[in-house]
Amino acid sequence: MTPDATEDTEDTTTFADLGLRPELLRALLDLGYEEPTPIQREAIPPLLSGHDLLGQAATGTGKTAAFALPILQHMPAGGGDGAAPMALVLVPTRELAVQVSEAVHRYGRDLGTRVLPIYGGQPIGRQLRELQRGVDVVVATPGRALDHIGRKTLRLDALRMVVLDEADEMLDMGFADDIEAILQETPEERQTVLFSATMPPRIDSIARAHLKDPVRIQIERESTAPGEAPRVRQSAYVVPRAHKPAALGRVLDVEAPEATIVFCRTREEVDQLTETMNGRGYRAEALHGGMGQEQRDRVMARLRAGTADLLVATDVAARGLDIEQLSHVVNYNVPSAPESYVHRIGRVGRAGREGVAITLAEPREHRMLKTIERVTKSRIVVEKVPTVADLRARRLELTRSALEESILEDDLEHFRVVVDTLADEFDVMEIAMAAVKLAHEASGAAADEEEIPEVPLRSEREGRGRREPAGRDERRGRGPTSGMTRIFVGAGRSAGVRPQDLVGAIANETRLSGRDIGAIEIADRFSLVEVPQQAADDVIASLRQSTIKGRKVTVRRERFPAR
Ligand code: AMP
Repeated sequence: MTPDATEDTEDTTTFADLGLRPELLRALLDLGYEEPTPIQREAIPPLLSGHDLLGQAATGTGKTAAFALPILQHMPAGGGDGAAPMALVLVPTRELAVQVSEAVHRYGRDLGTRVLPIYGGQPIGRQLRELQRGVDVVVATPGRALDHIGRKTLRLDALRMVVLDEADEMLDMGFADDIEAILQETPEERQTVLFSATMPPRIDSIARAHLKDPVRIQIERESTAPGEAPRVRQSAYVVPRAHKPAALGRVLDVEAPEATIVFCRTREEVDQLTETMNGRGYRAEALHGGMGQEQRDRVMARLRAGTADLLVATDVAARGLDIEQLSHVVNYNVPSAPESYVHRIGRVGRAGREGVAITLAEPREHRMLKTIERVTKSRIVVEKVPTVADLRARRLELTRSALEESILEDDLEHFRVVVDTLADEFDVMEIAMAAVKLAHEASGAAADEEEIPEVPLRSEREGRGRREPAGRDERRGRGPTSGMTRIFVGAGRSAGVRPQDLVGAIANETRLSGRDIGAIEIADRFSLVEVPQQAADDVIASLRQSTIKGRKVTVRRERFPAR
């Protein structure tokens, strides 16, 4: 392996360098995390030494571990013995509450830390029992947290750390007052962490009011110097997680690369994807930090000799590799920081050749993609995953060019006798078509008939707030959008109801997130909210149990939908 020019500029801080306790290091090793992401590198040391922190980071940066590991660093081994939690994480949605709880649980595996997600829509009884039994870390949506605080079932007096995760989303959902009320109840000497993808002035004022001299971190600093950027065609595909291997195969088939490196986040992901891609007929090799030097050399030799065409690797393992014939870089996930993106794509487009960088993004990672575009000052074109029809067309195209090459090679005389004899009986066109069919089938293109659902990249909302998405008002007076049911809520403008109150109430009490909620219409005495049909009963039942602007209100299906 030849070291490459970027090698000594890359940071090689390990999790152990950050001073994390052995139980956590073990858990991270088992999860296959090879090194901290930039946000973790910057956030963990100040958090371990007790500072407050204000971090600008979106999903996909590794921000959850950046606050979860410091929370766990000081947890008593074997779980706490008190009933009152030591850490509280506030998140905007039920989905995120579950996700963050799972992450804390995974990292805290060897510590026996007790974690509980609490959110609206879940029977409160179970939460009460768990809280009574004793919990070390609570991950909650603000509305439900406040509910428990009011009932004195969630005690905040032992809190050492409070985290506001995705703070901008919480504000957009109308949780500002709830957050204020919760923070008022927490001990003065607590440590406070705020993570937000964007930093609008409202976030700044919360930070000024509740964070003490916070360390500020932002992952958007690095930028490529002019002239340094390699010639790389950059594109992204938005694909749900479950369809990623199929989408990767499809994109590779259409791109027909010379050699590709696919970057994954963890060792586990590398091993799994290598296996899956081999099962799908690609010649893939894994490369990660858990492998010995000899093993790595063998992999590289196979790639150079052209007996493998796909290298699946972690960043650490790929560091310092220089592969001459590399034409494509694939980010199997959105990279955790712009600088990591820049390093990765710098592996192609060398020596004046054009390289290709492809990123597979999950719908919720769109902000990180935008950040990367902004920081690298380059455009990443979001493309549609090739459909089954595209793929067939592309395969036929490959067969066509193979035939064309064969014609130009001019060594066909040998086969004339076959055509001649068949021509007595069949049309020459038919004979040609049969020959094409056989050549096409013999090319071994495995049919991949699975359609991959098309998901739009979530609309850009940065800096605009999300209360009045374009189009909501235009739908006034018409029937509900297809697939949606309109719900009547017996409070409107004269009761001070704003769209964010409705979005907040629904997201806090049900499994829907703000994004699932459709058009909102607020009249003087009532409001109408569109929700997905299948969730309508759940939303009605939950809203009837809760209050809007402090009042119980009538909630039912809209009786006379205007047509
Ligand atoms: P987050 O931005 O917190 O939602 O994390 C994004 C993803 O990155 C999650 O799937 C994490 O499990 C993963 N992850 C977080 N930190 C690391 C790391 N240091 N190495 C590899 N994967 C990580």
